[in-house]
Amino acid sequence: MSTLLQELIAKGLLIPTGVDGVYGRGGVFEDVLLRFDGYISRLAIEDKADVMRFPPLVTRENFEKSGYLKSFPHLAGPVFSFNRPPADHATLLERVQAKEPWGDMLEMTDTVLTPAACYPVYPTLAHAPLAKGGRLVDVLSYCFRHEPSIDPARMQMFRMREFIRIASAEECHAWRDQWIERAGHWLQDLGLPAESAVANDPFFGRGGKMLAANQRSQELKFELVVPIATPESPTAIMSFNYHQEHFEKTFGITQADGEVAHTACVGFGMERVTLALFKFHGLDPDKWPAGVRDRLFG
Ligand code: AMP
Ligand code: ZN
Repeated sequence: MSTLLQELIAKGLLIPTGVDGVYGRGGVFEDVLLRFDGYISRLAIEDKADVMRFPPLVTRENFEKSGYLKSFPHLAGPVFSFNRPPADHATLLERVQAKEPWGDMLEMTDTVLTPAACYPVYPTLAHAPLAKGGRLVDVLSYCFRHEPSIDPARMQMFRMREFIRIASAEECHAWRDQWIERAGHWLQDLGLPAESAVANDPFFGRGGKMLAANQRSQELKFELVVPIATPESPTAIMSFNYHQEHFEKTFGITQADGEVAHTACVGFGMERVTLALFKFHGLDPDKWPAGVRDRLFG
């Protein structure tokens, strides 16, 4: 276990569950996270984004369509449930009792845990062409990724607050780029010296290497990184993605003029920002620098 994780647990900021990357949040941790959420809302109020909140599930149909399994089968969290005759129930319980595998007695349901907060949004925009100027959407959701780790900044379930721009290619590109600078200032104002860097997603397998190289060479993904648990490899606390027309082609979203729309999204890793605040300012928010306290708690 990393020292930072040990300290967070000892202070009651994170509550271990016995599974790496799955934690309860103590009251002080949660308060800081929600204050940061409020800080984002205040600073972005003039953007007038359409707020949408979904439960942390996407429909399996939309998940399959989205192409997630092509890129990240190893991270997915489909929901399974028991859907057999009562006669099989005793067998299920016997297997559990005997610590034998029981997954084959389950059946896939119509839902999958949300992999990124923006995923439930795209299919909802497919019904009619977008209004002139496109859309700007604000989402917050718990997200699931099966990547168990002892790094407290790599959780299996964590929250992502995202803004999503759905518009022309030029608008999406420019919007994404100006957000890198804007968010960098917001984080610096909280005493987090985040640096921007071109990045890639953790695509699966051999083909994934090519996808990652492509994503980098086209500069489709940037991250703002700060050192959290491991000083030698800083952690991404925010991502800035330009998806080109992937989601629009997949779900059939068109602009007002009938052209296929493009999308970009910017995502705050809510737990990671919270962890970074504890890492940089100490584990007791009462003792944080006055400027940081004013901005978050003022
Ligand atoms: P991504 O969709 O991978 O770009 O993730 C968006 C943001 O979510 C990242 O910039 C991180 O801040 C956060 N994030 C991604 N994976 C994790 C994780 N396993 N644990 C906590 N936060 C994460
Ligand atoms: Zn997104």
